[in-house]
Amino acid sequence: MALLGFSIECNHFAPPAGRSQFRCLLADDAVVDDARSPTPVALGEMPGFVADMDAAGPWQPRPIYLAMAEPNGPVEHPFFEALCTTWRDGLRALRGHIDGVYCVMHGAGITTGDLDPEGTIQRMIRDELGADVPLVCSYDLHANVSDEMVACCDAFVGYRTNPHLDMRERGAESAQLLRRLLAGERTYLSSRRLPIIGPSVTLLSARGPYAEVIDLGQARQAEIGPAIWNVSVMGGFSQGDVPYQGMNVVITGDDRAAVDALADELAEAAWARRARFVALLTPLDAAVQRAKDSPVPLVFADVADNPGGGSSGKTMWLLRAFLDAFRDAAPGTVIVGIINDSLLAADAHAAGAGATLTARFNRPVDGEEPHAFCEPLTVDAQVVALSNGEVTGRRGIFKGTSIRLGATAALRIGGVTVVVISNRTQCADPVFLEHLGLDIGAARAVVLKSRGHFRGGFDEFFQHEQVVEVDAPGLTSPILTRFDWRHLPRPVLPIDQVADWSLR
Ligand SMILES: [Zn+2]
Repeated sequence: MALLGFSIECNHFAPPAGRSQFRCLLADDAVVDDARSPTPVALGEMPGFVADMDAAGPWQPRPIYLAMAEPNGPVEHPFFEALCTTWRDGLRALRGHIDGVYCVMHGAGITTGDLDPEGTIQRMIRDELGADVPLVCSYDLHANVSDEMVACCDAFVGYRTNPHLDMRERGAESAQLLRRLLAGERTYLSSRRLPIIGPSVTLLSARGPYAEVIDLGQARQAEIGPAIWNVSVMGGFSQGDVPYQGMNVVITGDDRAAVDALADELAEAAWARRARFVALLTPLDAAVQRAKDSPVPLVFADVADNPGGGSSGKTMWLLRAFLDAFRDAAPGTVIVGIINDSLLAADAHAAGAGATLTARFNRPVDGEEPHAFCEPLTVDAQVVALSNGEVTGRRGIFKGTSIRLGATAALRIGGVTVVVISNRTQCADPVFLEHLGLDIGAARAVVLKSRGHFRGGFDEFFQHEQVVEVDAPGLTSPILTRFDWRHLPRPVLPIDQVADWSLR
């Protein structure tokens, strides 16, 4: 069984990402060794796949190469080409000895020279091995689905949860579908692309229009039975800005009529809900007022500066506003996390725990372009805790995963405690704050740089009603009219008026 993977979500508006931005680069046996470890570096798909295969009986994994990164800008194309050479050489060396292929994808990758790298990889696998060797691919829920991605695989398995809590299950499902293919069953895939770009905050799977379509898909699959192998309703990643963008329903099954009918039905169901795919955010000044007035603690999501969507994790809009409002409050009243600023983290480590320092956020670096939207902020602070940032995820998408935040510091600025890290990561797990001794449950307001994955980690502190999605500038803003789109198919909702759409 050949195993490989390419997983990165690329924001077209962020600076390009090279090899050093990939936090997980695993070659050969290291792919399977990592998957079998109690705290893998890779996200859950490969561990889920390998565990399911191990449980099903003897098998021979032939891992080639797995490349995974935090969301970022477009991948530097020469690095992508080098990865393709590694995958191609690995497949050629195994040709004639491979029964099936499992490929971990994200689906919202782009490179500086290729707007459909997943399609390129899948086509390459087909070209190398032929159509008779089954290929199963799994994807993030935010995949932008190209025609090539659907044409070049035998089973298309997308996440069903946002926050993403089913990565291991989808890896295991991929193994189960691959075994059906190895037993001689054959599939037919059908997809329907809609002229809808769901703003990120509208793509939750617990409630809302998108959740309703996912739930309908699961219910219909259960009713129809084994002829439908998988139902994937892919929300897409808006800031990918690719020509094949749009919410996409992809059905895998072995009964062509049933597959086509279900694809039609779910596409119609999504279209019927089109008016609800609109971002409704709270203006920053209103958010701060809610923090002051609320009888219960609240969490404030900086959805526009989400490192989990390729943003810098450095913008100061929310920190500045909460400092203005809560500087004179009791220590620990507000927690802000996590700001990506390796220079400031190094300053805090040099000063030492307990020391006071002049914290210079976003200081200019000679020879480097400043990040978009990242203004400097200088303020006196006390270092209250330090760490090397080596943590194991406790809840949500990073649960059980080894994460390296790099040199990390908690700085107290009056009533606001801010956590500064060195390796850009979204604040999806409470352990990122807790490992420094911060008491999340005692805070009146917690401000997080995360669009939505924090919901899977901080849900033990905050119910849905305690979440405030704040409107501020940033590279991952869900207000899509603010971007200078280059490749999106137009017209598309909710950016344009789309009067009419039909399946035929
Ligand atoms: Zn995602």
